[in-house]
Amino acid sequence: MSGIVGYIGGQNAVPILLDTLKRLEYRGYDSTGIAVIQNSALVSRKKVGNIEILKESLRNEPFGGNIGIGHTRWATHGKPTEENAHPHIAGKIAIVHNGIVENYLALKESLLKDGRSFVSETDTEVIAHLIDKYFDPSASSGTGSGLETAVQKAISEISGTYALCVISPSDPDKIVIARNENPIVIGLGRGEFFIASDATAILSYVKDVLFLDDGEVAVIKKEGVQVYDKSSRPAAKNIRRLGLNPIMMEKGGYRHFILKEIFEQPRAIWDTIRGRVSGGDIVFEDFRLEGSEAGRIKKIFITGCGTSWHAGLIGKFMIEGLSRIPVDVDISSELRYRNPIIDSETLLIAISESGETVDTIAALREAKKRGAKTVAICNTVESSLSRESDGKIDIHAGPEISVASTKTFTASLSALYILAVYLAKQRGAIGKSEEAERVKGIIALTGKIEDAMGLEEEIEGLSKIFYEKRGFLYLGRGINYPAALEGAMKMKELAYIYAEGYSGGEMKHGPIALIDENTPVIILAPQNSLYEKSLIDIEEVKARNGVVIVFATEGDTEVAKRARHVLYIPHVPELLTPILYSIPLQFLAYYVALRRGLNVDRPRNLAKSVTVE
Ligand code: GLU
Repeated sequence: MSGIVGYIGGQNAVPILLDTLKRLEYRGYDSTGIAVIQNSALVSRKKVGNIEILKESLRNEPFGGNIGIGHTRWATHGKPTEENAHPHIAGKIAIVHNGIVENYLALKESLLKDGRSFVSETDTEVIAHLIDKYFDPSASSGTGSGLETAVQKAISEISGTYALCVISPSDPDKIVIARNENPIVIGLGRGEFFIASDATAILSYVKDVLFLDDGEVAVIKKEGVQVYDKSSRPAAKNIRRLGLNPIMMEKGGYRHFILKEIFEQPRAIWDTIRGRVSGGDIVFEDFRLEGSEAGRIKKIFITGCGTSWHAGLIGKFMIEGLSRIPVDVDISSELRYRNPIIDSETLLIAISESGETVDTIAALREAKKRGAKTVAICNTVESSLSRESDGKIDIHAGPEISVASTKTFTASLSALYILAVYLAKQRGAIGKSEEAERVKGIIALTGKIEDAMGLEEEIEGLSKIFYEKRGFLYLGRGINYPAALEGAMKMKELAYIYAEGYSGGEMKHGPIALIDENTPVIILAPQNSLYEKSLIDIEEVKARNGVVIVFATEGDTEVAKRARHVLYIPHVPELLTPILYSIPLQFLAYYVALRRGLNVDRPRNLAKSVTVE
């Protein structure tokens, strides 16, 4: 989820690009870079790390120009290096890109055959070459359409997401921008225009803006802006006046990063699976197990800490359920010290949002030492964990600013799910048609999550009733038992309320003593294989005067007869229920914490990435 900016006007673009990029740093800062047109030539500077490093370099060796573009990167394809930093230059064009080109490997192959050479590992460089290939500078002298025509031709070949800014000294008086699924906004000044991924970045320069829609291309000159629709016809656009304050805008209009990240989950999951589930088959770029190799795996270990450990516990149900390979799940700080029975017939799956969690890295090293094959599931490209593992599956959730994980949890679960389907397929445990069916199920899940978001208001209402309670109990069975653990942990992390997650069947062996009329008990009761058992849990809690809040499948009338508070969730296949049922639990913890006046984005005592033991 990188940030992109552009400027065209009478001022020196460089300080404006640096200032606007600084405001987009929340979108990632693996590297930064700018390019301007100076004396009819492209000049660029790129640096690994945040904007301050780029600024320092430009202070020492400055350049300038009236037209420029800039980028702050959150890497999706290729390490955070200077070569991979944007802008990418091919021939006489420079480009900055936010998004993912799904078919970049096929495009790269054909561009290589054309004799083109690449300097980076990014998907973006492919777009730069495509534009350059189609760019006919002579067309710009007659019709003024050189660069935009090339951009239109290039994007017609790309599948994936993008917001782009393109400049060229061979068609020097314009910036061409384009959008598909990633945001881009044009700020309208007098004789000058400001472009950015979101309006926060340009709020101090302009009040009026134009938002580009999917499929549109815009040509921005000092004299004005022309937007074209998908069919290259001029498009009429409404000018919007910005009414938001800068802080709100940075959060995309949400009050807190965590709320924004909760709402980003359908997108995060889609970005994690797209490109890997093309045509019903599952394909991983950086992890492959041929049938025979998959057949040799006798045992799988999943390891992680905190939320990632909960994801692992759910992954066990997915993998065992589909591939019938036995799975052990270990907290990383335990695995590394417990002399585990791991050998060359073991596959270790290590999960860490940052990929820098020190215990998880140590557990991975321990497993490698014992001969295991390893794969990392991380939200950070080229993290230590993914560098050290044999294979990696990057989740593309985008930067998670809030300390408590939400979207990285459900995106990791989606990655585990498609991995489970893949393993089952490679071992012959499921056939092609089941693989395709499962893929269809997870694609449909993103829409159901959007439906589940509709519970927000009802949950906010519940938070008013329960926010002063001293403790919560969360019950789930089977694959939703770890979802209950995660729900309880969100409540602890965000609201500082003691919350216990338990298996519904285990509750009567101890925690039942906690239940009284002051104890809210959250029960996850989807209509799946353990549904009847969950009904028993509801009755047992009620018999001790516990206050029951049930999350149940849409259309379930049985539960309504038994519980006062029932919230309905769309039906999904059993192995996907924890992803969906986690969403309302995140809302609940968020709203309870908010009522208690707490800092929901930065809870006390916690750190996002735990790089110490
Ligand atoms: N795919 C591009 C890269 O890795 C852009 C990343 C993004 O927008 O997050 O450089």
